[in-house]
Amino acid sequence: MDNALIADMHTHSEYSHDSVCTIEDMCLSQIEKGTKIFAVTDHCDVFYSNDFDIYTPIKNAYDNVKALNKKYGDKCIILSGVEISEGFWYPKACEKIHGLLPYDVIIGSVHCVKCKGLEDPYAKLDFSKVSKERLHEFLDCYFNDMITMLEYMNFDILAHLTCPLRYIIGKYGLNIDISIFKDRILNILKLIIEKNIALEVNTSYIVLNDFIPNKEILKKYYKMGGRLITLGSDAHIAQNASANFEAAIKVLKEIGFKDICYFKNRKLNKISI
Ligand SMILES: [Zn+2]
Ligand SMILES: [Zn+2]
Repeated sequence: MDNALIADMHTHSEYSHDSVCTIEDMCLSQIEKGTKIFAVTDHCDVFYSNDFDIYTPIKNAYDNVKALNKKYGDKCIILSGVEISEGFWYPKACEKIHGLLPYDVIIGSVHCVKCKGLEDPYAKLDFSKVSKERLHEFLDCYFNDMITMLEYMNFDILAHLTCPLRYIIGKYGLNIDISIFKDRILNILKLIIEKNIALEVNTSYIVLNDFIPNKEILKKYYKMGGRLITLGSDAHIAQNASANFEAAIKVLKEIGFKDICYFKNRKLNKISI
């Protein structure tokens, strides 16, 4: 990479329900890859707030990040964050998460969709048995939920826009034309620009040789005046730290982006690429 300073704003650790990676291992992998800043953004799936203690793991991650910064701070800065999903479904729990810790960054995500019969986390849904009509209905709800999240939740980075395609297209190989949701996507891009929320390029899965969101959406965002981009590997294992960042930066430069962002103390900073 031309520039040595790169930030990975989306990673998970053993404090997430779907990872066993220690923050230290993630940090060592980031250092090996030359990444100088990364954020630990463990899941806070508000969806589960009535069933589990979603708060203690986030606190533990925060304490761990603090301790590890003392050990590795000269090589790599670890930012403490959280990935909140479905926060707007449970405003009280969401408010509690916000007040819990002085995060560097808050990521806003949609992992479940209020679409009748398809309400489980979409990562776990079997889309092979879902009709095309229902898929459209599901995606319609997905984009609507994202718009609601943008209207009601306070956060810094919009994560993995169009993520269900990872499963619908990537896992189940279904043919879906998302151009019918063009207006919704444009509305989402307009809202994040108005609210100064950064758009994440999620590099964890490559769907149809592209990132999430894809190049076409990134181009639209740029054309509309959007300039706040973060890179997120969404790594759940150490070896995926900053995965595919070189390719993502190449695409961003081709579109015209001059920098990427990171958040510290919830303040925006830019790094030229
Ligand atoms: Zn996510
Ligand atoms: Zn994530």
